[in-house]
Amino acid sequence: MNYQVLLYYKYVQIKDPEAFRDAHLELCNEIGLKGRILVATEGLNGTVSGTIEQTERYMNTLREDARFTDIIFKVEPSSGHAFKKMKVKVKPEIVNLHLANDLNPNEVTGKHLTPKEFFEAMQDDDVIILDARNTYEYDLGHFKNAIRPNIETFRELPAWVEENLSKYKDKKVLTYCTGGIRCEKFSGFLVNEGFQNVNQLHGGIITYGYDPEVKGALWDGKCYVFDERISVSVNRTGEEVIVGNCYHCGNPEERYVKCGNPDCNKHLLLCEECEHKHLRSCSEECKEHPSNRYVKEHQLNA
Ligand SMILES: [Zn+2]
Ligand SMILES: [Zn+2]
Repeated sequence: MNYQVLLYYKYVQIKDPEAFRDAHLELCNEIGLKGRILVATEGLNGTVSGTIEQTERYMNTLREDARFTDIIFKVEPSSGHAFKKMKVKVKPEIVNLHLANDLNPNEVTGKHLTPKEFFEAMQDDDVIILDARNTYEYDLGHFKNAIRPNIETFRELPAWVEENLSKYKDKKVLTYCTGGIRCEKFSGFLVNEGFQNVNQLHGGIITYGYDPEVKGALWDGKCYVFDERISVSVNRTGEEVIVGNCYHCGNPEERYVKCGNPDCNKHLLLCEECEHKHLRSCSEECKEHPSNRYVKEHQLNA
């Protein structure tokens, strides 16, 4: 475990995102990091991997910038790089939410709960625990009793809430996501929608899993991550359970693959047996697609 994976974000004004991107990419390349960083006028959102030395140097350098002195890094030990390349991109937003009325989370957002506060709040019977992630993330692991919004991308979440949760505006709502960034804006949206008691897990699931007191308690399954590791452990209480099920046979499974049809790319929990049987596909159509990757990799069309 000589490597570390860093997960971090900050909503802070970056006046010239293009110039920031160029300088930042140069810095990351010079240090030798790999990963994916998004830059927007509203802030910075990144996940990078490198040796302990490299990642420490990056954190120290970023904190020297007055805009980022108080940035919080989630640091996870790793056996190697979690990315193949180093990419820094300029985007309109640092998470894709596309709100009709965009907001600044520094001005409006839900109350931040520490892992311990969140853990305690979850045990109240009269709360709504709302997963702010996509279905394929939820299906691999989630908090016990959390609501699973039926969405494939984060920007579908506001409309889903308007349709399904409008009658619960007076309830206490607890939202969570992987590293906390999605909840910053999403919980602000809930506040603007008139929800009375909106709370978010500060630092997200990753921080929750490393908290020495709660140790990831009440989390079932694994946590989906957007890098080559695909999933990481959260519950360290010794009571870890598997909640994922194979897409085809339904057996307990935590192994994610992308549908073999490159035009589909759907995330599938698939056991090895079903992967072979169904040519890594979600449907007959994908199975028979002329560019099916499983067919190509196994030279079945030769
Ligand atoms: Zn199966
Ligand atoms: Zn498919």
